[in-house]
Amino acid sequence: MSKNVYVFAEQRDGNIQKVAYELVGKARELADTLDEKVYAVLVGQGMDAQAGSLIAAGADGVVLVQDEMLAEYTTEAYTKAVVEVIREKGPEIFLIGATAIGRDLAPRVSARIHTGLTADCTGLAIDEASRNLLMTRPAFGGNIMATIVCEDHRPQMATVRPGVMKALAADSTRTGEVEELKVAFSAADMPVEVVEVIREERTSVDITEAKVLVSGGRGMSDAENFNALLDPLAEVLGGVVSGSRGAVDAGWIDHECQVGQTGKTVRPDLYLACGISGAIQHVAGMEGAEYIVAVDKNDGAPIFDIADLGVVGNVDTLLPKLTEAIKEYKE
Ligand code: FAD
Repeated sequence: MSKNVYVFAEQRDGNIQKVAYELVGKARELADTLDEKVYAVLVGQGMDAQAGSLIAAGADGVVLVQDEMLAEYTTEAYTKAVVEVIREKGPEIFLIGATAIGRDLAPRVSARIHTGLTADCTGLAIDEASRNLLMTRPAFGGNIMATIVCEDHRPQMATVRPGVMKALAADSTRTGEVEELKVAFSAADMPVEVVEVIREERTSVDITEAKVLVSGGRGMSDAENFNALLDPLAEVLGGVVSGSRGAVDAGWIDHECQVGQTGKTVRPDLYLACGISGAIQHVAGMEGAEYIVAVDKNDGAPIFDIADLGVVGNVDTLLPKLTEAIKEYKE
């Protein structure tokens, strides 16, 4: 009998990634509906001290798999570790972050245990009648939302992009059990040797971490206008500049800063959309923002359907005035 909701708690350099806490938060909600428990699966080396943070984030327990072979991520060794946990524990649901590591790991694991995998889910819920997991994700180029059910195989597996789910506030009074599961690794489990890890230097700020995003679209007209109007506004607001795919394709901003289905999912306190029409693929990446302000000259732009505050007007005249007004207000 499959039981309980499991989350792969991704860590890099010994630091548990934010997406793990977000997934534990969602898993808590799913498990409460099923009246089951949440377990985080922490794979690595020397991770004992970190396990408690997953319990504070909502897990009932942590399954630790540690070995020197797991110090750095490799597909084979991590797949073996996770597959062993699934075979030993028999989860009902298994969630993985759709990060570079998660996108590599999840399909391997699902193939090895012969179950399905729904990638890049934007919504997860329990169908109370069947107790199946309803996994919702954009389909057909983002034009429809498809809800997928894995009826016949267990666990029901899904990946979810960082920023889509909301982590619960950490509660250090929560208690839970940390269990170490021994997995026997041999040289045959390591067909790849990690010779050196070279980290990519990040030049731009991570837009998923920003509290305020000033986002520009094709309505900003050209690269010069994009920078001249958005940079000072982001600065006075203590925010970061991001963009729609329209702006990225035009070469006005780096793809790293693209918001949306093929960009990043963001959840800032304030999202200011400037000259962005609000295509479904864009909205999929920012609708979780706390407060959305949209500036667009077309009063029929779909961005106004989801904006908390909509301003119909020309960005060329409005944005400099807004920047000045905020500057004056702050002085
Ligand atoms: P437009 O749709 O051209 O909108 C420009 C807006 O600016 C208009 O509303 C216009 O009225 C307004 N405007 C023009 N001039 C001014 C002015 N002077 N002052 C004020 N307003 C003005 N898009 C994304 O953003 N992110 C994604 O991740 C993404 N992924 C996609 C994945 C797939 C598979 C597909 C098919 C599409 C994807 N898209 C994505 C593209 C998406 O469908 C839209 O084409 C794109 O979001 C449009 O960008 P935009 O809003 O900047 O441009």
